[in-house]
Amino acid sequence: MSRSDGIAEQVRAILASAGEDPNREGLQKTPERVERTFKFLTQGYTQDAETILNKALFTVEYDEMVIIKDIDVFSLCEHHLLPFYGKAHVAYLPNGKVAGLSKIPRLVDMFARRLQVQERLTVEIASAIETHVKPRGVGVVIEAMHFCMMMRGVFRDQQQTREEFLSLIKRSTAL
Ligand SMILES: [Zn+2]
Repeated sequence: MSRSDGIAEQVRAILASAGEDPNREGLQKTPERVERTFKFLTQGYTQDAETILNKALFTVEYDEMVIIKDIDVFSLCEHHLLPFYGKAHVAYLPNGKVAGLSKIPRLVDMFARRLQVQERLTVEIASAIETHVKPRGVGVVIEAMHFCMMMRGVFRDQQQTREEFLSLIKRSTAL
């Protein structure tokens, strides 16, 4: 039995519990679609950093910082199963080895296609590079928009965030 078997059946139950008729035309194929989508969005669990990085390490003489900017990040927050998306920026100081350029975006993608929180995603990318590329130093920054905050109106519930947000807006209109 694969790790995702039975998802379609359970999506059908969720649709019914939302008050929908899972058999109406528009919803008939939805459970199977959701199952395929969920498998795709969590395929990072079937991959590992060693396979991605170790076969693509190159010896280098230089020690200038390697910077890979604007890597697309599409992930699912583990608290709400809603998307968060944005850009990752990775920099490291090589210590005799660099990873093939396409490998860092693949590594980001692998960790992003698991259930995540942004902070852990950042740490996992950095420590995988540390373990496998063994650089002198590594930094990872992720800028992301979280659907669970955007859709649920979190600003309204969090007084401090709301005030910060409003004062930022006031400041930028004053310019
Ligand atoms: Zn969330």
